[in-house]
Amino acid sequence: MNMLNQKARQLKQGAIRAMFDRAAGMEGVISLGIGEPDMPTPALICQAGMEALERGETHYTPNAGTVELRRAIAEKSYLAPLGYDPAGEIIVTCGGMGALSLLFLVLLEEGDEVLIQDPQWLNHAAQVRYCGGVPVRVPTRAAAGFSMEREAVERLVTARTKAILINSPNNPTGAVMSKEALKEIAAVARRRDLLVISDEVYSTLLYGQASHISIASLPGMRERTVVINSFSKAYAMTGWRVGYAAGPAEIIDRMVKCQENFSACVNAPGQHAAAAALDHPELATGLRDIFARRREALLSELARIPGICCAPPAGAFYAFADISAFGMSSETFCRQLLEQERVVCIPGSAFGQCGEGYIRIGYAAGEDRLREAVRRMARFCESRDNQSR
Ligand code: PLP
Repeated sequence: MNMLNQKARQLKQGAIRAMFDRAAGMEGVISLGIGEPDMPTPALICQAGMEALERGETHYTPNAGTVELRRAIAEKSYLAPLGYDPAGEIIVTCGGMGALSLLFLVLLEEGDEVLIQDPQWLNHAAQVRYCGGVPVRVPTRAAAGFSMEREAVERLVTARTKAILINSPNNPTGAVMSKEALKEIAAVARRRDLLVISDEVYSTLLYGQASHISIASLPGMRERTVVINSFSKAYAMTGWRVGYAAGPAEIIDRMVKCQENFSACVNAPGQHAAAAALDHPELATGLRDIFARRREALLSELARIPGICCAPPAGAFYAFADISAFGMSSETFCRQLLEQERVVCIPGSAFGQCGEGYIRIGYAAGEDRLREAVRRMARFCESRDNQSR
């Protein structure tokens, strides 16, 4: 007897998890596949969480999140200039993923299309599918910095298109959309009356001259954008599961009702910890600086490997390296790299067809391990070169 519904039967393990499963049980593996900061949550934030527990803050909170945290997001986060109303335009969710899933649940009718760039982190498309929607992949080009281009988007808009999802800084490419690129997407959204879902969970992780611009800040966009963010990446708080969405009141209101029915709220001490984090933006800057050093180390080591070509990523903690010179699929490259040298990277093809020929290298590992992993990678590439000669 199969009790599962059709949707559940079709659920598959993502390609990132599959790489980890392959590595499980192997000795001496260095993982550059991980999508989370490896450092502990800053002590000050943990302290705020512990104090909340000691005060007895162990109960349900309002479904939209504590008033304190919603107010902090409205007044102290980078969204403050947009003047979101904490009483109706912000919801605190179980990480960015919780915000995205609630949004797709309240947004999508069967068959509604959501434009998502290719390559892109896997969960967006998986969630859209599970909520009855159709993810439509928008091809991007390395030459355009893997940013969505207006013509490519416009070509794919149909009568069923409901939203465009953007993610800058991007997972897996590390690309940051320029103001010009954002303006183009905004123009399409306004002209075709589409919602924009802007996943900004890496907004604090920027390098060099890059700066974060939320598409919601562009003219006429606040009312048609839902911004998704989270404390996971900015403050090394992945396990606390605190994120949020900010957007039009009628959408947020339905997300709150949905959260009421499914999970009630985010854990109370975590919300107190997150509110404390917003009082200390220097903690996010400190983490960013650590990643900036690792990024430098990674890029300079990679530059020494003949055949690997890697444009410097402007944000997040991923490099998207071109390995097409080795004449094998990104899946084969990553599998052999793991078997031969015990290093985990994620095949670009896992993120969509346009990711083929690339691998995602995460630099959320410590600098020593990072250097050792790249040394192993260099040895692997040399052995491939020798074989093909
Ligand atoms: N969005 C992107 C692009 C991500 O890469 C991730 C996590 O890897 C998330 C959202 C969700 O993060 P969380 O649910 O931990 O906030």
